[in-house]
Amino acid sequence: MSVLPIVTYNDPVLREKTKPVEENNQELQTLIDDMFDTMYNSQGVGLAAPQIGKKIQLFVMDADGITDELEEEDSHGPLVIINPKIVETAGEKVKMEEGCLSIPDVRDDVVRPEKVTIEYLDRDFNTKRIEAEGWESRVIQHEYDHLQGVLFLDYLSAFKKRLHKSLLKKIDKGTLQIEYPVVPKKWAGEMKTLRIVFMGSPDFAIPSL
Ligand code: ZN
Repeated sequence: MSVLPIVTYNDPVLREKTKPVEENNQELQTLIDDMFDTMYNSQGVGLAAPQIGKKIQLFVMDADGITDELEEEDSHGPLVIINPKIVETAGEKVKMEEGCLSIPDVRDDVVRPEKVTIEYLDRDFNTKRIEAEGWESRVIQHEYDHLQGVLFLDYLSAFKKRLHKSLLKKIDKGTLQIEYPVVPKKWAGEMKTLRIVFMGSPDFAIPSL
């Protein structure tokens, strides 16, 4: 069980396509546990695999904390969502304020459908289908977007985006003070170089990016 560093804004991995998870093995189970640790450690309610540098269709979430606070109806609790498909969205379009562990301190209103139905595999690879609304639906839609390389910033107007410009620049430069471990921008760049230099060397272990 360990807390993994989170990838932040402008890291290319947040924009890349993800692949379906094909095999359920110990490595996957450990990754899921680590992702929960990472999410709870940063007081997040959802965390998608690209946010810890993995290009696979997996996210973890737990909307209970937030729904308790807002006295919304109970959510489904901690969920492991593998290879999800959105089956249906329904209800009114609602505006809610979102934030993202990869874009610390930036929050803004995003309009999304109120309800969502998804089909996915749980951590035992059983096919599940759930209907969610309120905050739980919001978290699902936000995390699902991460698997498509989409960030909540993409929904904001150019004007709204400009308001966040200086903060985004700080995150990109790695100069913003962040309360949880993140992948340092410079270091990430160096690791990519190292990866090329040492490619093929069995003795060289590449840390998680
Ligand atoms: Zn996010």
